[in-house]
Amino acid sequence: LAKKDGRNTYRFFKAHMNEAALQRLEMVTKLRKAIANDELSVHYQPLFDIATGNLVTLEALIRWNHPKEGWIAPDQFIPVAEETGLIKDIGDQVLRRACADVKEIMYRLQRPVKVAVNISARQFKDGHFDEKVLGIIASQGIVPEYLELEITERLLMLDDPETAGILRRLAKAGVSLSIDDFGTGYSSLSYLKRYPFDVLKIDRAFVKDVTHDSQSAALVSAIIAMAQSLDLKVIAEGVEEEGQLAHLKKHGCDIAQGFLLGRPMSVADLTAKIHQWQMVELEAPVA
Ligand code: C2E
Ligand code: MG
Ligand code: MG
Ligand code: MG
Repeated sequence: LAKKDGRNTYRFFKAHMNEAALQRLEMVTKLRKAIANDELSVHYQPLFDIATGNLVTLEALIRWNHPKEGWIAPDQFIPVAEETGLIKDIGDQVLRRACADVKEIMYRLQRPVKVAVNISARQFKDGHFDEKVLGIIASQGIVPEYLELEITERLLMLDDPETAGILRRLAKAGVSLSIDDFGTGYSSLSYLKRYPFDVLKIDRAFVKDVTHDSQSAALVSAIIAMAQSLDLKVIAEGVEEEGQLAHLKKHGCDIAQGFLLGRPMSVADLTAKIHQWQMVELEAPVA
């Protein structure tokens, strides 16, 4: 009986593995089609300075509207895009689109705003990533100071000198660098000193319970204090409630992002809504 069970278990796993592999293959095929058929677009979520209420940054978030299946979430296809290398093409497209869109928005409003773009570890391995980014910025006619790149701790774990060089050259050119999902990766924290980061984004897992869980509250306070002492701006992700925002403000968090303040939206929706938000005055006109 045991033997039979064992065999059934094996068969069960095999069937499941095939199914998973099959699904993955289907996803790759669908994704290739999506790129060719222009099904991917970029939405933007507003980030606000907590002290002044000014809109300061727009985070570019990729969106996939499949003709039959509707919206497919990034968490469902970004990992596949990373494994297959498709993220390089997708990432280039997002970066180019984001620079073009933010330039258009600044031009129309005559107000400065930054655009933050998520970058996968795989994109850094493409060779000359810094040159590529600076080339895209120049071709879209914005200055590097309006671009922020969001990187997760996973990239820094690899601790490779090439990555360090790329980050340093981008920072020197004026691009801002931010650590995304801070606190969720395995990090030694020493990279905070080693790499030229400007911004730290506290993962929404900590923000979620900040008003009713003393450990989350303690962690958030500690992260803010640490960031301040290292001269990093702190962004809280996933702010959904007034209480969370009040807590973050009281503890000196600089910037807030979350459904409470604004959801990711298309450029069309954004330009309709952006007039309700106050923004920083532009000192020099955008070219
Ligand atoms: P992320 O960079 O941490 O982006 C923030 C995510 O949190 C977004 O999910 C956003 O919609 C969501 N979010 C914002 N405010 C709230 C809130 O108040 N509550 C909740 N529950 N969620 C909130 P999204 O758009 O589904 O993206 C998921 C992840 O996919 C991103 O996490 C990022 O890691 C990745 N991603 C998205 N676009 C790109 C891209 O263009 N390139 C790369 N490499 N990764 C991307
Ligand atoms: Mg991000
Ligand atoms: Mg994040
Ligand atoms: Mg994330």
